[in-house]
Formats: sequence, structure tokens, C-alpha cells
Amino acid sequence: MVDSPPLIHDFKPSGIPKRFLGAVELSLDEYEAIKLSDYLGKDHAAGAEKMGVSRPTFTRLLERARKKMARFLIEGLHLQIEGGSVHFKRNILQCSSCRKLINTGISGSIRRCPFCGSSGIIDLASGFGHGSCCRHA
Ligand SMILES: [Zn+2]
Repeated sequence: MVDSPPLIHDFKPSGIPKRFLGAVELSLDEYEAIKLSDYLGKDHAAGAEKMGVSRPTFTRLLERARKKMARFLIEGLHLQIEGGSVHFKRNILQCSSCRKLINTGISGSIRRCPFCGSSGIIDLASGFGHGSCCRHA
């Protein structure tokens, strides 16, 4: 289980076209492990429980994620966060006009931005091919 989709899923060094860069892919479960451990400060047991995986699995995900982040920084790679067999607990929508974020349940449907009224709503979970699977999980 992954709490919510990442806000940004595509990173690269500035000023260098993607075609000149090597690439590294961080899976959603690796992203979640590094978020829980290094961003939110949870220990491995708490992180494993949040994700619904064993502690050794969490540790393995975290080690892979850290290795990839180190390669991204040191080698100057193009980094993309990719899918994987995960489900989201919550969704985040983003207004394409005012860029504000709207936290919502995974099955929630909002058609207009509550801040500016725009109908340009970006569903960050479905950008990962998720949403329909998570909605039935
Ligand atoms: Zn808006």
C-alpha cells in the first residue's frame, strides 16, 4: 500500500535534454519506503506496517530506493517514478489552473477546483494507471 501518489514523477538535471541522460526508475513502493523512512522519520517496523509488507521487505525497498537516489544525484540521471503492484490509500488531485492540491479519498470525484472553480482537474493516481484498481481494493 502506498499512501498517496507522488506530486512529481519526472526529474532531471536542468539544461540537459533527456536524450543525453541515463535513466533510473524508482518504483512506487521504493518511493513510499524512502518517504516513510527518510522524509517522515518512521523506523523500519512502522514503515513496514504502514505499507502492509514485512520488515525485511521494507528494508530491501529502502535500500534499493536510496541506491537509486544516490545514482540520480551523483551520475546526474533522468529519474522517473513508475508504477508497480501497489494500491493508493488516498488520492491527490491538482488544479491545472491555480496548481493547488486537493487531498481526497481514492474513490472521490471532484469535477471543479474548490479554490478557483476551474474544471481542469488532474488525477495524480490515475497518472500511474491507478485509480480503477485502487478503487476496488
Ligand atoms: Zn484551481
